[in-house]
Amino acid sequence: MQQRQLFVTTALPYANGNFHIGHIMEYIQADIWVRFQRMQGHKVDFVGADDTHGAPIMIAAEKAGITPQQFVANIAAGRKPYLDGFHIAFDNWHSTDAPENHALARQIYLDLKQTGLIETRTIEQFFDPEKNMFLPDRFIKGECPKCHSKDQYGDNCEVCGAVYAPTDLIEPFSALSGAKPELRSSEHFFFKLSDARCVAFLQAWTQDGRLQPEVANKVKEWFSVRTNPDGTTSEGLGDWDISRDAPYFGIEIPDAPGKYFYVWLDAPVGYLASLKNLLDKRGESYDDYFNNPNLEQHHFIGKDIVTFHTLFWPAMLKFSGRKTPDKVHVHGFLTVNNGEKMSKSRGTGLDPLKYLSLGMNPEWLRYYLAAKLNGRNEDVDFNAEDFMARVNSDLVGKFVNIASRAAGFIAKRFGGQLGEVSADGQSLLQLLREGLAPIAKLYDERDYAKAQRDIMALADRVNEYVDANKPWELAKQEGQDARLQDVCSTCIEAFRVLSCMLKPVLPSLAAQVEGFLNIAPMSFVNAAQALGAGHGIGEYKHLMQRVDIKMLDSLFEAPEPVVQALTPGGEDIAPTISIDDFAKIDLRIAQIVKCEAVEGSTKLLRLTLDVGEGRMRNVFSGIASMYQPADLEGKLTVMVANLAPRKMKFGVSEGMVLAASHADEKAEPGIYVLQPWPGAKPGMRIH
Ligand SMILES: [Zn+2]
Repeated sequence: MQQRQLFVTTALPYANGNFHIGHIMEYIQADIWVRFQRMQGHKVDFVGADDTHGAPIMIAAEKAGITPQQFVANIAAGRKPYLDGFHIAFDNWHSTDAPENHALARQIYLDLKQTGLIETRTIEQFFDPEKNMFLPDRFIKGECPKCHSKDQYGDNCEVCGAVYAPTDLIEPFSALSGAKPELRSSEHFFFKLSDARCVAFLQAWTQDGRLQPEVANKVKEWFSVRTNPDGTTSEGLGDWDISRDAPYFGIEIPDAPGKYFYVWLDAPVGYLASLKNLLDKRGESYDDYFNNPNLEQHHFIGKDIVTFHTLFWPAMLKFSGRKTPDKVHVHGFLTVNNGEKMSKSRGTGLDPLKYLSLGMNPEWLRYYLAAKLNGRNEDVDFNAEDFMARVNSDLVGKFVNIASRAAGFIAKRFGGQLGEVSADGQSLLQLLREGLAPIAKLYDERDYAKAQRDIMALADRVNEYVDANKPWELAKQEGQDARLQDVCSTCIEAFRVLSCMLKPVLPSLAAQVEGFLNIAPMSFVNAAQALGAGHGIGEYKHLMQRVDIKMLDSLFEAPEPVVQALTPGGEDIAPTISIDDFAKIDLRIAQIVKCEAVEGSTKLLRLTLDVGEGRMRNVFSGIASMYQPADLEGKLTVMVANLAPRKMKFGVSEGMVLAASHADEKAEPGIYVLQPWPGAKPGMRIH
């Protein structure tokens, strides 16, 4: 087999927060592939980096009172426990704010400019006169031009789903300062993706088999129709706005003072920068590396960033005279416990560091994800019960048990030495050896799920052999020593081959196996070579514990609430209720579609509420002292949706809006209607 030279990356995480379980899944997927390729004897360089630029990080740093550089350094300092904890072995971890990335991004831009694919245009954009900056779409808010919901973002309405330009918003305001933004014109730089050369190149590049079929089909649609910022559609690929005005945390555009690259221009360049940093540390030449005609470039990414990796990134590389990716491997999203729909008693999410802090084995998660990842662009669900069942029955019950049943006899009865394997054992081992190549092919194709199924089917065959020969009974019988050693030696040989097959997924367990069996690092190249009679093995120590349900309960348990004896609210916390008691109260997000004063009442307002049922609710609320009807119209709030209707003097009230107040109205007057964070939609239940 010819040795392959592989350059492998995972998507660069945005440096505004810690890793979540979705990042960890992608890194595990790539790490398994990298470890497998090395076990085939191939050369791999596996790199990652933090994606550090852009307005959200600049603004978050300002809020935290530190520089953006300090902000991203703090985030970077927190990466190691996650990567080490889950055995994710990047060869290098770097930053898009590193000098290598500044230099590479600027050079790529200059090369694109040389090719005639950069153009400047003057565009009109909202400017915050208080903050003295142009506002990204997400930092402009206002009233939706379609449904007139208040407080919507500049790019789309979260109530009615309309897509529009920020300039379409009614009464727009800056989410940073609250100021009324002014339209100002500014010169922007565009990458001309609509250029005939780009279109022809990308049409061929995306359809030549390097993308998964389902991804290639999706990308194909983008060549015929695209959606514009105002919701209309146009033919073909649009040009890409690659510049932002100062102040911006990013890389300054050459010969354009005050203009910076849009974060997505320099983010993927971070792959190259991290590699260059690694090669520099090794004293190797970056240019020589890319001059190798056999070099393969592989990117592992999530389905949300396909556009950047299948259109912008390959076009940037191609037309700046650089190598384009050989494969872009797209995975779906990870949901946890079916998005929590199935399990109300458990908290949300799966916190990777909490998982580790509970003493849960990282290889359980690696195995579970491997058993679910099939190489296609499909979502994967982490289900707690399924997780426990698979780890306990497959890894412990089927696999580890083989060694634990055989190793003790070899140590105690035969001085740790393996014996001859007779014909029935040989045919079992032959079956396992024949499984190596097909399983290697599945790993290469990233169909880890089928690889794990096939490995467990082979483990079943080994367990059938154990059950048929019952070494624990042979051990009690006179004159069966040779057969006992034969059967146990067969089990140990079989266990070694299975361990090799699982090694990309279970690297730490495999290292323990190599120690216990006294063997060189296992690989797919050397796996078929039997240990043979006379080989001495070491002492067996238990290789893996079973998953305890209590660990999963703790993992998904919400943090303990802090309870104060007497709250500033003027009343004690009510007696504890069960989750079932709470579940009886159906709280829903409601949109206040209409709000009017009630004639004859100074206390009440009449609210018309939409809780997503296809009809409106009439609710009276005692909040007239605090709010003008116009303040509330279009806003979202929370209502008790299953409260029995109540007949009041002014009409029937079909529910109750949640509002906060002090127990003693005279001590502290005021009543405050609850409002959900952006993103909530009418009809969503509060859990
Ligand atoms: Zn709307």
